[in-house]
Amino acid sequence: MRILVQKFGGTSVASPELRERVLYHIKRGLAEGYHLVVVVSAMGRSGDPYATDTLLSLVKQYGNQISPREQDLLMSCGEIISATTLSSLLYRHEIENCVLTGGQAGIITNNHHTNAHIVTINSKRILRQLEKRKVVIVAGFQGQTVDGEITTLGRGGSDTTATALGVALHAECVDIFTDVEGIMTADPRIVEDAAPLEKVTYTEMCNLAFQGAKVIHPRAVEIAMQTNVPIRVRSTMSDHPGTLVTTMSEADRLIGEMRDGLITGITQMPNVTQVRVPAKQGQYDIQLKVFKAMAENDISVDFISVNPSGIAYTVYDDLADRAEEILRRLDLEPELNRNCAKVSTVGAGIAGVPGVMAKIVEALTEEDIQILQSADSHTTIWVLVRGSDMVKAVRALHHKFSLHRLNYS
Ligand code: ADP
Ligand code: MG
Repeated sequence: MRILVQKFGGTSVASPELRERVLYHIKRGLAEGYHLVVVVSAMGRSGDPYATDTLLSLVKQYGNQISPREQDLLMSCGEIISATTLSSLLYRHEIENCVLTGGQAGIITNNHHTNAHIVTINSKRILRQLEKRKVVIVAGFQGQTVDGEITTLGRGGSDTTATALGVALHAECVDIFTDVEGIMTADPRIVEDAAPLEKVTYTEMCNLAFQGAKVIHPRAVEIAMQTNVPIRVRSTMSDHPGTLVTTMSEADRLIGEMRDGLITGITQMPNVTQVRVPAKQGQYDIQLKVFKAMAENDISVDFISVNPSGIAYTVYDDLADRAEEILRRLDLEPELNRNCAKVSTVGAGIAGVPGVMAKIVEALTEEDIQILQSADSHTTIWVLVRGSDMVKAVRALHHKFSLHRLNYS
């Protein structure tokens, strides 16, 4: 059985016109001889009638008093509404289909409500329906515990549903349909001339996604990597093949080396606060004290830099006040720099390539952007800048590395 998983994000199912495009891609998949599993997200974005955030706002009027279990019940409705609506459209076009909730599709998760992880998938029920030549529409973003409790998979959950089903069903490919042409060299909402990439490796994609490229969730990519099921990120609105996410062959590596400085793309992560804690004379244990206190209070820290004169790290803006309070209680004198952004230059193997950091510094200096902190790994160079400089920084770096020239389309 040649199985294709197609996932349509919230913006792809938001209106009757868009759903016609979904129908088009489903018809095309069927015409190509595939057995189709279609994963859908809830319709639209916050404010749209059946979007997840809109459903959640129903309980906000009572001060958000809801337990995670009940919140999952509420949130799982958006995808079910979306799936059944699509089902009706397919019936109108005489396409046999069947809708399954996450649980009915055999997706078993742990019991971590609102951010559950998939433990296993029992694909028998899907396969039975596919054998009957039905299009199987699966409500994304959700699963069920072994006890039958409905769970949801956290941000980007429908991407995870799609790739996990792709792995479980040994699909030929997982198509992630969205509102952009593919994985781009930068967020097209920020960089107008960002270019779609023809191919990226799983590792490159994970790096981009972890550093803020929200087009596909990193967990979804990690799952696909387990069995190397290829992912294609593509636009619902066009026939453009989009970006193939796959392993890299030797030939591809050579093409990669021709990319300027091996840079794949620029990403950004806004809304972080830089916390600096200067060490007083003779204070040798402050790092231990600080990081222990952060961990005990469940505040995740990032961008850590330790040196004899003190430490610096970042937390999300909404946790900054709490972090400050905790540090003051420890008799420390933290300095907080709120509303910063982490801008990342991502590329396979930039380590040891001379001049990459110099180019980054040059690009930012030319734009009068102050680097508040920096760090690097073998695939990424991070800089922390003021939030008000973020867009300018992303554009400057994109330009400096001539990423628009990678345009294959
Ligand atoms: P969906 O509703 O289909 O899941 P998302 O909003 O989750 O859509 O993902 C698509 C969005 O990701 C795009 O509209 C784009 O603004 C954003 N995005 C951020 N970085 C990138 C990137 N490097 N390449 C493509 N899209 C990106
Ligand atoms: Mg998404």
